[in-house]
Amino acid sequence: MYRELLAREGVECLLKNDQLFSAIGEIPFVECYPELWVVDDEVYPRAQLLLDGWLRQSLSNKQGWRCPDCGELCDPQFEQCWNCLSPRD
Ligand SMILES: [Zn+2]
Repeated sequence: MYRELLAREGVECLLKNDQLFSAIGEIPFVECYPELWVVDDEVYPRAQLLLDGWLRQSLSNKQGWRCPDCGELCDPQFEQCWNCLSPRD
């Protein structure tokens, strides 16, 4: 997924170890993790910034939100507070 997103931003990447997952147990698991390699070292800092932003956004989308009126914690998929029905924003 991140390889595709980076490609859309013009950052060429290679995916390594994408076929090794089935070898876990025979090869140490840390050597089987998929790795995303940026082809051009000069665009690596930009790729890192893009990835950091996407990961931060992804994480914040999974976190709940606090109702501004009653203070209850609500699940991220709801646009209204489950307790007082106040809108999210
Ligand atoms: Zn509320």
